[in-house]
Amino acid sequence: MSAPPRGPADALTSPRFAGLRTFARLPTLEQVGRADVAILGAPFDAGASFRVGARFGPAAVREASILLRPHHEPLEVDVFEAGQFADAGDAPASPLSIAAGHAAIEASAQELHASGAKVLGIGGDHSVALPLIRAASRRAGGPLSLIQFDAHSDTWDDYFGERVSHGTIMRRAVEEGLIDASSSSQIGMRGPLYASSDLGDARELGFELTTTAGLLSEGLITVIGSAVARARGPVYVSVDIDVLDPAFAPGTGTPEPGGLQTRELQALLRGLAPLAGRIVAADVVEVSPPYDHAGITASAGAAAAYELCALLALGLRGR
Ligand code: MN
Ligand code: MN
Repeated sequence: MSAPPRGPADALTSPRFAGLRTFARLPTLEQVGRADVAILGAPFDAGASFRVGARFGPAAVREASILLRPHHEPLEVDVFEAGQFADAGDAPASPLSIAAGHAAIEASAQELHASGAKVLGIGGDHSVALPLIRAASRRAGGPLSLIQFDAHSDTWDDYFGERVSHGTIMRRAVEEGLIDASSSSQIGMRGPLYASSDLGDARELGFELTTTAGLLSEGLITVIGSAVARARGPVYVSVDIDVLDPAFAPGTGTPEPGGLQTRELQALLRGLAPLAGRIVAADVVEVSPPYDHAGITASAGAAAAYELCALLALGLRGR
């Protein structure tokens, strides 16, 4: 190990609210040259079926992230000392074409993976997970185990005839062989459905699916423990912020009442610690600032991203 990682700007030297916005006030990738963990914005929302606006998610999450402090107490890790974390900026995604936008996101993620970085994507609508998963699976050399927190399973076959949207990506990822559903878990589904097949299809694809009601009756620890036990090989963690109740995440594309509290999502993410070394990439998606109030959702998004950083740091520490 050469020089120690360059951490966030020191808030005791330059106040937290000063300076240009990077995630958690980390250095940019240009400033450090290479990173063990790269935060990549995916400001794209042409895959959203209801409310758009998540294209502004990366900027809002960065803004909310300036209050993140470096020591993660529950997991006992100095997050930004475990390796070099850096903000890689935003993928230059076309706002007008899902195919072109996704190609740009995949290329940016792939470049980061090729440099040895693990990629934490900040959406964007959930469709951006597909190019992020494509790049991560290529890096891993095979299918990933997915752990998805979401009010929706995102396993529709199509929407208005379109095969790729934020409601279809997990089915596409299984079909493309990017995800092994038999080792993957979807957690937090709820809300009115078009038909029972909405969730039945996800289970038929092979996912272990736990609804929010199931989560509360079985218990957070039991459910996340089962997801950990089920995961094989490299892991991808996807956090759709709408897994939270609209009280905790009003600024999102498809709000569903009856969801989790932020602290419950944090507990679930911390429960993934046994998998920390196997997480190759992750995302936080569906923060939609135009529908947010007082930055509640952006703050929850930054908090979820911080949990993922802490897991990635644990993984780096265990190298
Ligand atoms: Mn989703
Ligand atoms: Mn969702």
